[in-house]
This record gives sequence, structure tokens and C-alpha cells, in this order.
Amino acid sequence: MSADPLAALAALLGPRGLITEAADIVPYAEDWRHLYRGAPPAVLRPADTAELAAAVKLCAKAGLGIVPQGGNTSMVGGATPSENGREVVLSLARLNRVRALDPVDLSLTIEAGATLKAAQDAAAEAGCRLPLSIASEGSATIGGVLSTNAGGNMTLRYGNARDLVLGLEVVLADGRVWEGLRRLRKDNTGYCLRQIFLGAEGTLGVITAAVLKLVPAPQARVVAFVAQPNPEAALAFLNRCQRHDPAALTAFEYMGEHGMSLVLRHIPDTALPLAHPAAHYALVEFSSPRAEPGFAETVEEVIAAAMTAGEVLDATLAASEGQARAMWRLREEHAEAQKRAGASIKNDVSVPVSLVPEFLRAAPAACAALMPGIRVVAFGHLGDGNIHFNLRPPEGMAEADFLARDHQVMDAVNGVVRLLGGSFSAEHGVGRLKTYMMPEWRGGVELDLMRALKAAFDPEGVMNPGKVLP
Ligand SMILES: Cc1cc2nc3c(=O)[nH]c(=O)nc-3n(C[C@H](O)[C@H](O)[C@H](O)COP(=O)(O)OP(=O)(O)OC[C@H]3O[C@@H](n4cnc5c(N)ncnc54)[C@H](O)[C@@H]3O)c2cc1C
Repeated sequence: MSADPLAALAALLGPRGLITEAADIVPYAEDWRHLYRGAPPAVLRPADTAELAAAVKLCAKAGLGIVPQGGNTSMVGGATPSENGREVVLSLARLNRVRALDPVDLSLTIEAGATLKAAQDAAAEAGCRLPLSIASEGSATIGGVLSTNAGGNMTLRYGNARDLVLGLEVVLADGRVWEGLRRLRKDNTGYCLRQIFLGAEGTLGVITAAVLKLVPAPQARVVAFVAQPNPEAALAFLNRCQRHDPAALTAFEYMGEHGMSLVLRHIPDTALPLAHPAAHYALVEFSSPRAEPGFAETVEEVIAAAMTAGEVLDATLAASEGQARAMWRLREEHAEAQKRAGASIKNDVSVPVSLVPEFLRAAPAACAALMPGIRVVAFGHLGDGNIHFNLRPPEGMAEADFLARDHQVMDAVNGVVRLLGGSFSAEHGVGRLKTYMMPEWRGGVELDLMRALKAAFDPEGVMNPGKVLP
């Protein structure tokens, strides 16, 4: 890179807005899983939308690629620049203000660099709830969550991130700003532009702010942790909970025994809330906007009926907020526990909900046929048919040898997913890791349309080069 664009960026952004020291760049250059380490010449940290737009204009003029980055928690290398030294990281960290919160409209207008947790807290202070929760919410930002169309723990009740967005403000690849921060519940005025940016993983523009839908804060909440004999029982229990009260069932999370054993081994202050370990577990949450007397008792009745039917072997209900949090930690620390346990190959797949048991039988078999002794960590959002199907090396295999076969292992899992009519990426996106899968899974008309969109929004290919599209 010539010195000029950097000097111009320095003049525009000031000392707080530009990082060029190699040591300071490192945290922005590497992804959460340590799969990639890019070589960006600089990290841009603009203070507001106008500064960000001017910086994008400068970069586009200089032919620099721009990699938007929020919390850098991508599981697919989506926010990591390439090694070619021609892409800068555009951090949204300083755009983190709450612009407005309206408890009557039930809407929150917030900047893209605010963490999801900060957005949840802002909603809670106003007696509302932002009904989106993921394990990385302390670091993941609104911009990242919307750009990946994150799913998470409440999708079965409230939908994915894209279902919660009323309006967006976006800086386009040429530096123009699209002011789409409307908070209307109804607005049929041509193509729905915001939906094009949601889930686009920063390849079409930079989200700088959003208007999000809120719901009233829950007044009653029951969290239950159950042991189950097999995946079929888990599905039957999910159906039972849905029939009981679909409006109250807020989360239904599945966990297999190996993942649970890693959490208990590697995460301090965790304990199984049941007397005996089991092969399968579910964490179930019901909530209501009303303080309903007898709410917990009706859930107990559902669980008792499930035990009689053999769907549940053992169960416990959280008796306090602390116990509920401890149960949720067992689920949410799965990714961290696995990271501490060593190398893994991750698959974030979805199949029709009714076929999850079939997937949970066929996928381990396919992997074992490829690599005898391979260890399965399966957990995830059973209520959405979304399983994180992660693999660890057989005992004694060198991690490097295992990781060298990542495409073979992912392809074995995806072979099962394809047979069941599923998707190779349910919520983490395509990023850099999975672009090679796109022609096979989304080739033909679908990929043509995606390329046409890219050409329309970013004709020079400035925005997050090398991501999503092969
Ligand atoms: C422990 C752990 C648990 C997780 N659990 C879940 C889960 O339950 N559900 C789930 O869906 N994901 C989950 N993830 C994945 C990840 O947290 C999500 O994808 C999250 O939405 C990313 O947010 P971020 O701010 O970290 O984005 P980043 O990692 O910084 O970026 C992600 C993508 O979005 C783009 N981007 C970021 N900000 C912007 C912006 N302002 N404008 C345009 N593009 C932008 C980036 O270029 C990149 O392509 C988990 C990750 C971890 C580490």
C-alpha cells in the first residue's frame, strides 16, 4: 500500500481512529478459532457514521479491501482479512450508542458496534426484552449479529436476527449512506432493501445502525434441565412442550454427553444438576409476559407426563435465577469448553426438525466410517433443527493430522445433511471457511443471483473480499 491512503486515513480518523502498529493490529487480524491470521496494513476505528462513510470512500478510491468487524466472534473467519496486505479491518467498536428506545413502539435504535448484551441491557432497563440471545453476546455486536443473521436460543419463539429488524442505516461500498432507519411495522414500498444486507456478512455494505423490535419483558420464567434416553425422545419431548403452550416455549436446546463432559471438565464452577449423567440432555425454557400463578406447576405436569411416556429419564427445574443461569452456562460454555479441549472441526448444520434424530444417528456413523475413533460433540438448537455437530480427533491422533482432513470430515457430515434436505450453514454463515461449498450447494440460478447482487451493490469488489461468494 502506498503511504498516501494511510496518511489520508490518519488525517481523517485521528490517532484514536487508526491503528497501524503491528502488535496492536494482531487481535483484529486473527479469528476466534485461530484458523486464519490476515495481514491488514491498518485497522480503522471511525467515531461515527459520517467518518466511517468518508473512510470507506477513501479506501475504495485507493483500491483497498474493507473487512467490517464487530466482536470478531465469527466461527467461519468472516471478519478476518486476507494475508495479501491489501485489506483493512473496519472496526465498528466506537459506534456503540443507543440512539433511541421507545417502549410504546417497542423499538430500539442502536449503533452497530454496541454489543448484543448492551442492547439487551438497554431494553431491560425500559422493561422490555430484545429477544435474541447467543452464547457470545458479551462480545458479538449488533452489526455482526445482523450481518450473520444470527440465530441463537430464542429463534423457535421469535425468529432469527433478520426477523427482529425494522430499519437499517448502511454505508455503501462507494461511501454513500442509505438512511433506512425507519421504525415502521408495515412498509411495502418496493424491494425490501434491509433484508438484502441482513446475513450478507459485510459483502454488500457496512451496517452502522439498526432499529430492532422489542417485546415486553417476561414476568414468569421456568428453566428445566432434563436427561433423555435417545434423540427420538428429545424430539418427542419438544413436540410435547410445543403442544403444551407454543407461545410460552422460548428455548429448547439439545446437548450430547461428550460435549457435556467437556464443559464439566474444562469450565470452572459447573456441575451437572442431575444425580446421574445421561447420553442426551435438553435445556428447556418457558416464559410469559404475565406473572401467571401456577406457571411452573403446569411445566412440571408436562415433564411428569414425559417421564411416564419414557421421553425424560430425570429432570430438575431451576428454583432461582442463579440456578437458571447455572443451567444455561452448561449449554453456553460448550464452544469455549471445546476450544480448551483442543482442535475441533465444526459443522453448523440444519435439517427439518423432524429429521434431527435421523441426523444424530447417521452423521456419527458417516464420520466413524471415515475416521474410526473420531469423537462427536453434538449440541444446539433442536427446536430449530440446528445442530452444532463438532468433531474431535480420535485419542492419540495429532491435531495437525486431524485438521488437515477438515474438508473430508465436513463433506462426510454434509453428505448426510444433503440427504435429509438440510443446509451446511444454519446460523454461522459462510465466511471464508465455507465459500468452497457454495457452488455445490447454491450453484446455478441461486449463485448467479447472488453474484448479480454483489455486482450491483459493490461493483469494485471492495466489501469483505473473498467471503461468501467463491
Ligand atoms: C462462543 C460462541 C458462541 C456462539 N453462538 C452463536 C449462536 O448461538 N448463534 C449464532 O448465530 N452465532 C453464534 N456464534 C457466532 C458469532 O458469535 C455470531 O456470528 C455473531 O453474530 C458475530 O458477531 P460479531 O460482532 O462478533 O461479528 P464479527 O465476527 O466481527 O463479524 C461477523 C461477520 O459480520 C460482518 N460484520 C460485522 N459487523 C458488521 C457491520 N457492522 N456491517 C456489515 N458487516 C459486518 C463481518 O465482516 C463478518 O463477515 C457464536 C460464537 C462464539 C465464539
